[in-house]
Amino acid sequence: MLLFASAMDNETVPTDLTDSCKRVINSKTVALAKQEINLQFKSRGLNMVSFPTGYTSNMYNGILLWSSMDTPSNHSPFTFREAEPIRMEEQMNRHLTLQLILTQGKGMTVDEIKAANKQEVHAPMTFTDMTMQLQMFTIANDIFLGEISVGSQCLRSLQTMIDRNRSIFWAREILDKQLYSKFLFAIDSRFQIWFKQCRNARNCNKVDNNTINFTPVVSQVLYGSFHYNLPPTFQMKDPAVAATATTKSASDKKENNGNKDSQQKKKKKGEDRAMVKNEAPHPELYMLSTETWAINFASKHVDKRPKWNETCHCCPRWFLKKYCFSDCKNKNSHVKANDIPMENLTNMKAWIKLCRSGN
Ligand SMILES: [Zn+2]
Repeated sequence: MLLFASAMDNETVPTDLTDSCKRVINSKTVALAKQEINLQFKSRGLNMVSFPTGYTSNMYNGILLWSSMDTPSNHSPFTFREAEPIRMEEQMNRHLTLQLILTQGKGMTVDEIKAANKQEVHAPMTFTDMTMQLQMFTIANDIFLGEISVGSQCLRSLQTMIDRNRSIFWAREILDKQLYSKFLFAIDSRFQIWFKQCRNARNCNKVDNNTINFTPVVSQVLYGSFHYNLPPTFQMKDPAVAATATTKSASDKKENNGNKDSQQKKKKKGEDRAMVKNEAPHPELYMLSTETWAINFASKHVDKRPKWNETCHCCPRWFLKKYCFSDCKNKNSHVKANDIPMENLTNMKAWIKLCRSGN
């Protein structure tokens, strides 16, 4: 499942998990895994991320989803929030305490273990809350599934769309105080459905990446037709007090347990595949910041992709997405902008136009 979810489109499935993901799930203990996640957030420029210990232990066990759809999943934007300075210290230090408990073994009672798997839901109350949570979720997705994964691509274009329309979000918020929670939950639900497809699919082609194309949800907000009924998890008596609701204990709902073993078995092989970056992309070919490779181009008009020469096609990933892999079957076309023959350039532009036309 993690492999399908970390694919960048329907055509290529990575043979291995991202290094950052491996570092987390190969940590010796949950506490060390948490420390690793903290470090990785830091190295990606986010110092103030707070997430419950339950998130780590569930990710460590390969649990990304709950079985019920009426609550945000484990790997979800609701899991993260900006740490207040006091809590941040606590967050950074907690792994030390935990490490002690764990290394001394047997120290944890069943209740303590249950408590450690507990998940919290952070409902965003402001625009800033929501965008921060989305940003943190995107980074978490980078850590576990890789920056080039479809999920991260879609989350990044979602952030751009939200940012461009911030004034409309502000206007809608006046009418609906729970707008941000509802919006985030709509995003979360789509992500859950998509993860389930990744888990159940035998073949990557069976995953419908359009599930996490967030353009329609954003459009609904813009046109004022966005409605979403929040599940009981979000029922608030007093928004100020109940901003953090607590979901059921994760241990009740484990369903993916044991995935970790199979992930570890799937490793090995395919080490000779390296990512190559297009350092001199052609400005007329690469994607707009609101476009996503996986949604807008990857599966569109595949049969009409222009030829590069007799041996291969123009690699759309190389030109549009600005990177590809060393073992690409179209690698002969991995050239700098200035080295693209005129005819190929014209054909590529025509193909991009065709994909954008939505036909
Ligand atoms: Zn390529």
